[in-house]
Amino acid sequence: MFNLIDRLCDITLATVYPFACRVCDQPVTSRFDGVGCDRCWRELTERWAPLALCEKCGMQSDRRVEEMSGEQWFCRRCEHLHLSTARAAGPHEGVIRESVLWLKRHPRIGRRLQARLEEAWRTLPDPAGFDAVIPIPLHPLREAARTFNQAEVIGRIVTDFADCRLDLTSLIRVRATARHRLGMGYAERVRSLKGAFRVVAPRLIENRRLLMIDDVLTTGSTADEAARTLLEGGAREVALLTISRVRMVRP
Ligand SMILES: [Zn+2]
Ligand SMILES: [Zn+2]
Repeated sequence: MFNLIDRLCDITLATVYPFACRVCDQPVTSRFDGVGCDRCWRELTERWAPLALCEKCGMQSDRRVEEMSGEQWFCRRCEHLHLSTARAAGPHEGVIRESVLWLKRHPRIGRRLQARLEEAWRTLPDPAGFDAVIPIPLHPLREAARTFNQAEVIGRIVTDFADCRLDLTSLIRVRATARHRLGMGYAERVRSLKGAFRVVAPRLIENRRLLMIDDVLTTGSTADEAARTLLEGGAREVALLTISRVRMVRP
């Protein structure tokens, strides 16, 4: 997988410009690992991979897959969502969380995280059958302030392995919504998002299976308002793929 140039770059990285893991501060010795070291990636995978996930929204349960004896698990907090399914490359913890924070300022995704995204995409029902990838748009003013939309950076990578078109035009954000504060109730979040998105090219989405992209899934209120808008605009199905998934604890 690594060619000579990659190896030379890694040696240079380790000796000339040592990059500290953003979780444990130990040196990151391979560019493949992105913002975290190999040990932190393995630690996160060993902790997360055995847990059963909600079939619909991908939230992790307390139970391990082998305890489920083949039964599907539903968290029951996501029944109201318009999204058909959601999957994430990992939990919003450790190296995955740091990757999300890094991506807010740097439009790059390490190859280890790219591989995790592809693995998560494979767990969606009929992953190769999507017609288009739609990154959740930012309001133009926010995108101008940030200079790029991180969902679009992820979307370009997903488009490669999902082998379908990237749609940056069908869905737009017409209202800049206030940042959701921690502790804000779900109903309040939903109210603040009402009418935030609009479909401008219905012909491109009509009767299509769409894969929306975002960096992190928290309560799902933003993604769900976008999904609702796309379904009202004629889409057949809207699923979601994100880098991370926040574990929602029942209050
Ligand atoms: Zn580390
Ligand atoms: Zn769920």
